[in-house]
Amino acid sequence: MKKVTNFVFLLIMIMIPLMACNNQSNKANVIQEEVFALGTIIEFKIYDDDSKKAKEAIDKSIQRIREIEDKMTINKDKSELIEINNNAGINFIYVSPDTFFVIKKASEYSKLSQGAFDLTIEPIVKLWGIGTDNARIPKQEEIDVLLDLINYEDLILDEESQSVMLRKKGQAIDLGAIAKGYAGDEVKRILTEHGIQTAFVNLGGNVVAIGTKVDGSPWKIGIQNPLDERGSHVAVIEVKDKAVVTSGNYERYFIKDGKRYHHIIDPKTGYPAEAGIISSTIVTDQSIDADALSTAVYVMGLEKGLKLIERMENVEAVIITEDNQIYVTAGLREDFKLSNPQFQLLENLN
Ligand code: AMP
Ligand code: MG
Repeated sequence: MKKVTNFVFLLIMIMIPLMACNNQSNKANVIQEEVFALGTIIEFKIYDDDSKKAKEAIDKSIQRIREIEDKMTINKDKSELIEINNNAGINFIYVSPDTFFVIKKASEYSKLSQGAFDLTIEPIVKLWGIGTDNARIPKQEEIDVLLDLINYEDLILDEESQSVMLRKKGQAIDLGAIAKGYAGDEVKRILTEHGIQTAFVNLGGNVVAIGTKVDGSPWKIGIQNPLDERGSHVAVIEVKDKAVVTSGNYERYFIKDGKRYHHIIDPKTGYPAEAGIISSTIVTDQSIDADALSTAVYVMGLEKGLKLIERMENVEAVIITEDNQIYVTAGLREDFKLSNPQFQLLENLN
């Protein structure tokens, strides 16, 4: 009997390290894919031994992203959002749970940021046309007329009938600052449901890092240098299982007479936001929250933006100001490394 016990013990001792090794080598297999959707390039990197399963998870994710885009775009012939906008001041429009959820979140963040984030910004966004072939500096009168229409309080949400309406004709919703975030959360859900534990997905600057790297160490994410070419970083942050979203003045813009006009609008002025920030990065669990907050903080500026962030739990930020200073919230400082001496770390606000 003792012999048998010894044998079993020996067998277990041999098998444990074997299983551990096996796990590691399997996970080193990486499946990559890139697609264009939601107006941006979306990159998948899945680390899993089962390529077929990973490929299936990517295909399902892409399908889901396109579904979200088809419901919430304002750049195609039709979508649920276009239907709402066309019926502003006229009718309630019934929408799918996806669209209702994202509009409701956008409305919550509009309130929370006291209108720095405003989901009804669409008329001004369209007027500037930043990122399109028709980009131009509008006349002040044109801005003034449309500013009257920008007001998140004119959104009516009817939970019971899952219907949405804007109070005034001419008002319109733009979900460009939040829909990619929602897509990121949905991708994470789908990958996780397929049993994927290690993945890195980048939806045009909205990063979803699932789990840790294969060796158990945190993911390293570069913060784009707003003043330099794409791919050049000011800092690196380390995260595990987080969403990391950046809003920056380098994403979509045009330059006229040496001045940069970018795509994040201050709903109070109708001009590209100039609150002293050139990039704001939010790190949190849900990508939809990170996306909405990165835009809101950009418009609010360093002090007001930080006040908003500090009121929230489990939300960290990296904010770069126009005078090349970087502010990192306390919970992220240990995991932050400056990599460009052109920028200076701000220890406190005063
Ligand atoms: P993001 O890159 O996430 O900061 O989102 C910017 C996009 O959101 C723009 O291209 C507009 O479509 C839209 N947008 C611009 N300004 C605002 C704002 N103040 N509130 C909400 N959405 C905005
Ligand atoms: Mg955003």
